[in-house]
Amino acid sequence: MAAPHKLASFRLPPLPTVGELIKLYNLRAEKQLSQNFLLDLRLTDKIIRQAGNLRGAHVCEVGPGPGGLTRSILNAGAADLLVVEKDSRFIPGLKLLSEAAPGRLRIVHGDILTYRMDRGFPAKISRRWDDDPPNLHIIGNLPFSVSTPLIIKWLEHVANRTGPFSFGRTQLTLTFQKEVAERLTASTGSRQRSRLSIMSQYLCTVHSCFTIPGRAFVPKPEVDVGVIHFTPLVQPQIQHPFKLVEKVVRNIFQFRRKHFYKGLEKLFPEACRVELTQEMIQMADIDPTLRSTELKIPHFRALCEAYAHLCSQDSSLINYEYREELRQNHQERRSKLLDGNMKAK
Ligand code: SAM
Repeated sequence: MAAPHKLASFRLPPLPTVGELIKLYNLRAEKQLSQNFLLDLRLTDKIIRQAGNLRGAHVCEVGPGPGGLTRSILNAGAADLLVVEKDSRFIPGLKLLSEAAPGRLRIVHGDILTYRMDRGFPAKISRRWDDDPPNLHIIGNLPFSVSTPLIIKWLEHVANRTGPFSFGRTQLTLTFQKEVAERLTASTGSRQRSRLSIMSQYLCTVHSCFTIPGRAFVPKPEVDVGVIHFTPLVQPQIQHPFKLVEKVVRNIFQFRRKHFYKGLEKLFPEACRVELTQEMIQMADIDPTLRSTELKIPHFRALCEAYAHLCSQDSSLINYEYREELRQNHQERRSKLLDGNMKAK
């Protein structure tokens, strides 16, 4: 009979509902901060279950807002929940929750894009990279406006074992607008296969948990939302610096529906473009008529390998950016035109 008693000890005492709190503090959703709230605690409990067993866990919640997910995390038994919220209007409601769960909820009023999570938790929870994941979870119903830059930033941290991943293979359970969720999990050949699919899947096991219909949120967004769970891999599938992988993948997906070499060419300055693209494809031993969406992660690994080799022979290649060249050419043409016009006057 000990279990029910223990369970009762970490469940929250009776509180105003999330809806009542929203009314009480007049928390109108701000479009600018991508605010869409979840008020149904059965649904927030379901999201939290995707993270696994949170009893005694350390958790960082991104954007707690009025605190629906926050309550579910506390009810699931998290021992130490740190929430990072940008909008100060939510802080009084979160303080109320913190009083109801003494010593278990820490509130940071700040921006998750700049927050140093490596300083937010004790070093003693760290695990070796090749060990099981640490008892630290990142959870959030992410604001749409920051979800893509945030996941790219965290994937770079996974690659470098920094930030939240200085504690080991920290797991993430996050929401994304459905289209982004589909890109993250898309397999080879799928229409949704994109830069995000490769960047996430070469570093993590990415699992699509379920879809939440837009009508479950207040206010209702125009899209449905996918819940995704990430566990960093012990061995990344590509072992080159994140920035190099990102550059190769980004260029290849510039022309998603064309043969992949079209994008690959843009890795090189015009003078050596054709020659080095051919050399790279030969080294990687890939059929050049494959489309970007048809490439598998081992193909990207071989292409990164070949690109790293070419960069080791000519160190200026790594800094070459096709888009930057286009921008400069455009500026030069504009100033020539302006010069011409001045002279004509
Ligand atoms: N977790 C709440 C829920 O599920 O009802 C709110 C989710 S709402 C989609 C996103 C939340 O993230 C809002 O509370 C918003 O203020 C907050 N937010 C937006 N940008 C943020 C940022 N850069 N850093 C931290 N919080 C942010």
